Amino acid sequence: MSENLSPEIQQEIVRRRTFAIISHPDAGKTTLTEKLLLYGGAIQRAGMVTQKANRHQTVSDWMDMEQRRGISISSTALQFDYNDVCYNLLDTPGHQDFSEDTYRTLLAVDSAIMLLDAAKGVEPQTIKLFKVCRERGIPIFTIINKMDRPSLNPFELLEEVEKVLGILAIPMTWPIGEPGDFKGVYERDTRQVHMYQRTSGGQWKAPVATSGLEDPNMASIVDEHDRNLLDEELEMVDELIHPFEKDLFLEGEMTPVFFACAINNFGLDNFLDRFTELAPHPADLRTVKGEKPAASADFSGFIYKIQANMNKAHRDRVAFMRVATGKFEKNMTVKHLRSGKKVKLSFPYRLFGQKREIIEEAYPGDIVGLVNPGLFRAGDLLTVGKDFQIPSFPRFPPEIFCRIRLKDMTHNKSFRKGLDQLGEEGVVQVLQDPRSHSRLPVLAAVGELQLEVFKERMLEEYRCEVTFDRLDYGASRWIKGTIEPDGGYTFTLLYDEAERPVALFRNEWHMNQVVGNHEDLEFLPHPPDF
Ligand code: GDP
Repeated sequence: MSENLSPEIQQEIVRRRTFAIISHPDAGKTTLTEKLLLYGGAIQRAGMVTQKANRHQTVSDWMDMEQRRGISISSTALQFDYNDVCYNLLDTPGHQDFSEDTYRTLLAVDSAIMLLDAAKGVEPQTIKLFKVCRERGIPIFTIINKMDRPSLNPFELLEEVEKVLGILAIPMTWPIGEPGDFKGVYERDTRQVHMYQRTSGGQWKAPVATSGLEDPNMASIVDEHDRNLLDEELEMVDELIHPFEKDLFLEGEMTPVFFACAINNFGLDNFLDRFTELAPHPADLRTVKGEKPAASADFSGFIYKIQANMNKAHRDRVAFMRVATGKFEKNMTVKHLRSGKKVKLSFPYRLFGQKREIIEEAYPGDIVGLVNPGLFRAGDLLTVGKDFQIPSFPRFPPEIFCRIRLKDMTHNKSFRKGLDQLGEEGVVQVLQDPRSHSRLPVLAAVGELQLEVFKERMLEEYRCEVTFDRLDYGASRWIKGTIEPDGGYTFTLLYDEAERPVALFRNEWHMNQVVGNHEDLEFLPHPPDF
């Protein structure tokens, strides 16, 4: 940490942890989030955060559509304190189709918890999200959840993590009992045994009986069969598995693994202790390419996400900013680097699901919701001091395309507004076709659900009923090089929101053929100025 930081900022940095949970839908992310908040005292009773379909009020799942379907699309940031440590948990949307947004959120965290279902191991969405974390070089913790249910053998699970993800998986705890007959965990470094006890509905923190393996009372807790199995397995673990090394973990090469049962709060308190001890604090913010920007005493932050109409009572757009360096204060005037404009930040919010409250100050690692007057875009930098380099935001080449139609043309004005705002938010990408007489754009998405969300939000928030005509393209690339307007290209040429040329192809095969035929142009999976 830089020495010119004030003791106040240093202290706040040291006590902060900003992280996200990455997982495949249904692994238990909502449950884990809820339990962590329960530990932090941020909620009184588990079940208040994300009651899914047909349960009642929710905090982090706020859109009607999400509630009806019981999926979590929109991200918010949850802040809670536990043992004087301040945690910022950035909620990443869980649905596999909603990927671009999720990836952006991962640029704003300092570490991630990878949550796996003990019966399923590494699943497709986890792989995608893992790759983003890996590219940034952020440390990753692993929790193997649902240990109370029939599960894969722990050695198999560890091997799968290593083989599929290419990261060394080191068990910090070890499950006791046969798979499916879970008795508790053995903590390898303290040599303590934590016995699993069900609690009614898992609403409260579970009391955990702990004692050393050598304790004479152990015989009454762990029967002979389980004890022999444990001894045998621990011997194999010591022999076959690399010891945990903090440096390798911080470089993203090694992941500490914990076995848990989130629904019953089991394994979470010792996890949280180890997490707090090992997870880097926000002075170690890394860019998307893994570099560390210099620590600075001056405020700087970056927008990682824009969200319109979050709350029906406040129909506005919120830009989510992560404080990167220095102290943020309400009413601060900052420089918006992309436009060069000075902006006064008068309405900074802390958001907790639907609720928002004005905040006076924030420190590195914190997330501030800024009411967005249309100026902010994901990736924008705000600073009071020197110009500042941070993550280049990843873009993903869309694979689904359609032309959009408005049913009732008298709503054209709000239709255009909706297109602008939802496009800016990144719900879908809006591509312009200069040859189209109707000036109707092409919508491009990475996943199917993006289109559905777009359609629903157009109706709900802009009162516009839209239909889509699917277009027969399956791949796209941004183009670098000189484009001839009448170049007779065999791909379709459109322009993105910043007027950068984008080529659309029928499929991957077509794309590879075109790319091979055009040595004068470069075809990139992200914008050329990325
Ligand atoms: P998400 O889709 O990752 O947010 O998953 P949820 O938290 O909604 O969990 C999916 C399902 O798994 C729900 O029915 C949970 O009650 C259940 N679940 C979560 N954790 C556990 C666990 O530790 N054990 C068992 N048996 N079920 C769990």
